[in-house]
Amino acid sequence: MTAQELPNGFTGFSQRKPEGFVSARDAMGGHPPLDGPGAFGARPRATTAVPSAYEAGAAAFGNGAQGAFQYARDHARPEGGAAQFDPEKLRMISAADRRWAWTEVDLNAIRHNVASIRQRIESGVRIMAVVKADAYGHGAVRVAKTALNSGADYLGVATVDEAIQLREGLVNAPILVLSQPPAASIPLLLAYKVMPSVYTPDFAIQYAETADSFGLRAPYHLAVNTGMNRIGVRHDEVVEFMGQVSFHRALDLVGTFTHFATADSAETLDFQIQAKRFIEAVTALRAAGFDPGIVHASNTAAAIRYPDVHFDMVRLGIGMYGLQPSSVTRPLVDLRPAMSVHARITDVRTVPMSEGVSYGMNYRSPGSVKICTVPVGYADGLRRGLSGRTDVILKGQRCRQVGSICMDQCMFEVDLRVYGTRRRLDPQIGDEVLLVGRDGDAMITLDDMASALGTINYELAIGFSHRMPRLYV
Ligand SMILES: *Cc1c(COP(=O)(O)O)cnc(C)c1O
Repeated sequence: MTAQELPNGFTGFSQRKPEGFVSARDAMGGHPPLDGPGAFGARPRATTAVPSAYEAGAAAFGNGAQGAFQYARDHARPEGGAAQFDPEKLRMISAADRRWAWTEVDLNAIRHNVASIRQRIESGVRIMAVVKADAYGHGAVRVAKTALNSGADYLGVATVDEAIQLREGLVNAPILVLSQPPAASIPLLLAYKVMPSVYTPDFAIQYAETADSFGLRAPYHLAVNTGMNRIGVRHDEVVEFMGQVSFHRALDLVGTFTHFATADSAETLDFQIQAKRFIEAVTALRAAGFDPGIVHASNTAAAIRYPDVHFDMVRLGIGMYGLQPSSVTRPLVDLRPAMSVHARITDVRTVPMSEGVSYGMNYRSPGSVKICTVPVGYADGLRRGLSGRTDVILKGQRCRQVGSICMDQCMFEVDLRVYGTRRRLDPQIGDEVLLVGRDGDAMITLDDMASALGTINYELAIGFSHRMPRLYV
């Protein structure tokens, strides 16, 4: 049953469908290109008394009902049909004007972070930019291009589709999938020139056979398990593994790597054991006549802390985004968070003393506050566990988030009692607030949120990518 067959279409719109009707979805051409340059239109201004949606509305439809009727007349078909929506005009309504919540990604911060970590790495060592999970929520294609222009020369992803997305975004650098994908995806690897990590002989042989049938080479990186026990050939079985697969003429070992489980821990013994096993495995490969290719082991934490394990390449993930892998690395390198989370106030009210706010009414008004609503909720990555445990920044001042965070909205409190030197706030619908980021001396970080939740900043960053439009600055 299609929407048209349902009573009233279940769309809330009347079923009458004038000839030449353009559905909203057709008009948008699927998703608006949020990531594309200029997709957002002008950058929303930091502060504005007149919300820009009103201006865009005025521009598109004229002012008030009078203007809307004029618009309808201008666009009426000569044979007397109903008003038509102009797909171009609909498309012009920017993402920031469709919903007052968005993330911003500062590409200069990413450049700064790559350069900052680069300073701790010898010049011959390559950098792999790890852009899995949509670049930790920052947008894979834009981040990949930025990283490649700032000194990275390799890309790392988690899945075949993430690699294809980069190729379709016209990224040409070598791409390594940081795990062994299903064998059925091998033709995609070859067609898109994406290298897999390999650790089973079955996969290696199928990969080689398929490549051979297309007259291609089958480049791969050998994953070595040195103690994390996630993926890879056991560190003391790498020579045996190569003995099983290396007969195949198409196979091309272009890299050998491992991954550290504790590079970010204060305690270093487990790290030392993994490093030693990896060095022994690479030495054994060479002794048996196999060229290990590009040798790599370091994630951000190891790249910052342990020059001895940089080998031929380091793999930068979290640090590139300006987040510290742990408190251990904080004093060692200057990183700038690239992501900030923004919203505009959608409603403001005074709530009498002792009245509750939000589901469960876990918060009761003390009576001297204004309660403001912003359209960001746990479906946007503002985790519900942060209810009452995070702040928002309004005009440079911290305000407490209050009440349960809902799926799509949450509330915060503006205290109307004026203290000493603080400016009294007078929140208005349309005012911009920061949920993550810095405004003057006030700062809210993903680290703050992660520690309130007992998780890591990686998880918070990725969460904020799910529904909010993204704006590159
Ligand atoms: C995710 C990942 C990285 C990046 O780690 P960060 O801590 O974000 O720098 C590096 N190597 C592998 C194998 C990974 O899976």
